[in-house]
Amino acid sequence: MAKATNTSTATTAKAATKRTRTAAETEKIRKALVARRDALQNEYDESLSEITELQRDRLADSAGDDQADAGTKTFEREQEITLANNLLERITQVERAIERLGEGNYGWCERCGNPIPVERLAAFPSATLCVTCKQLEERR
Ligand SMILES: [Zn+2]
Repeated sequence: MAKATNTSTATTAKAATKRTRTAAETEKIRKALVARRDALQNEYDESLSEITELQRDRLADSAGDDQADAGTKTFEREQEITLANNLLERITQVERAIERLGEGNYGWCERCGNPIPVERLAAFPSATLCVTCKQLEERR
């Protein structure tokens, strides 16, 4: 009988702009990230065995080396270690990205709030800006 004039519905609609990706999309990103991590992990493993080898070489024949030779080997080894550390850093970034993906707040542009394309995330797992915003940022 009494007119049920409803004024409360209008307020709820505004809050519904929650960022969501479809499950399929999230899965696609996850697969790209996991593939990326595996590739980096392989590179890292190779790099580690390279370091071990360089180390072994150094210990095996360093007695007969002249200064320059030993210097080159040390340099090579240091470069390889830098590379390995670099790879490890990138692996950590990808793993962090995978974690954040699970929490649902990964892959959104920090500036405009648009979803960052899957391809970009696969190439740059630690990307926090979409291409457009990134370009704007660089132009300044
Ligand atoms: Zn953006």
